[in-house]
Amino acid sequence: VISKAKIKVKRAQNSREFALISAMLQEMEQKKLAQWFEKDHRTMPWRSDPSPYRVWISEIMLQQTQVAAVIPYFQRFLERFPNVESLSSAPVEEVLKCWAGLGYYSRARNLHKAAQQISASGRFPGTLEDLLQLPGVGPYTAGAIASIAYEIPAPIVDGNVIRVFARQHKQKKITSTRKEVWAWAKEEVFNANKEGTSPRVFNQALMELGATVCTPRKPDCQNCPVAATCLGQDQSELYPLPVKKDWVEIQEECLLLFSGDRVLLSLAKKGEWREGLWDLPRLSEVAGLDGGSEKKVASVRLTVTRHKIMRAIYTRKSNHEVGTDWVTGNNLKFFSLKELPPHGAGLRKSLSKMGLNGEVAPA
Ligand code: SF4
Repeated sequence: VISKAKIKVKRAQNSREFALISAMLQEMEQKKLAQWFEKDHRTMPWRSDPSPYRVWISEIMLQQTQVAAVIPYFQRFLERFPNVESLSSAPVEEVLKCWAGLGYYSRARNLHKAAQQISASGRFPGTLEDLLQLPGVGPYTAGAIASIAYEIPAPIVDGNVIRVFARQHKQKKITSTRKEVWAWAKEEVFNANKEGTSPRVFNQALMELGATVCTPRKPDCQNCPVAATCLGQDQSELYPLPVKKDWVEIQEECLLLFSGDRVLLSLAKKGEWREGLWDLPRLSEVAGLDGGSEKKVASVRLTVTRHKIMRAIYTRKSNHEVGTDWVTGNNLKFFSLKELPPHGAGLRKSLSKMGLNGEVAPA
């Protein structure tokens, strides 16, 4: 059933009237969106107590990870670092260890740096401008903290918001940098606030809509609270069209070497990709050490941002005495599988491929 409001919008979409009607409909749809959210939203631990600290940690974790996967990490992180002070005073290695498994470790390093900055200033930043001064905090995270924790009518634009905008306005080509999306999100949250819908509710409702109703495939338009103003719902798959990535292919050759029940790992040095994380050493790093010839035992595929990594895993018989530290510098050490140092998906997937996942310490 096409509502009268939608017919009006369709007729007027190419005229000056469009902007006016669209604006007139905003209040009604915003209220419906807010009501839908208050009734139907998913329970998340950071939603029950949206303090700036908790919103900040959750939003950084959610940047590259799904909600369901983030929840246990968030709870563990908050148990270990319940506030800015405990985070800022901890060694960065401990923060990385608590982050292990979430990937994209620069996020954890930036959290630590930002916590130190906040501790030094004596208070959590309270404006959009001040939030943007924190390491690792861009317009999205600043907008999320400002609106959810402080009720400031600041816009947020993530993949979900982009998709809703694209479908509402029949836009095929959109990226998160598009000024129009930010301008639309800003106007929407500003108007919602003016009409009595809290920025906390409105912004979360918009993202929740994209995550649960206006999904990339098969959006549930029948149950969408803002269907009346949606121009693109009949061909939602066109809005927005997927953006092609420029993939970079990388080949890696790694060594899986045990000393008793301990595995040899290598630490990525400062300035290197994966800095501060431990992984299986590259064959080139251990060439000529300890003798023995390698044998390929497995292949692992990894995708990290736009990198497609094909990793070949080799083993070889070690000649060194079991139990001794066969160390050639601080960046090569043996570790027990039960107490792995900070590491990324590369090590996790490699060990899993070799059937060693059951023994890997929980992240
Ligand atoms: S009507 Fe459909 S396509 Fe439009 S916003 Fe709602 S769920 Fe998305």
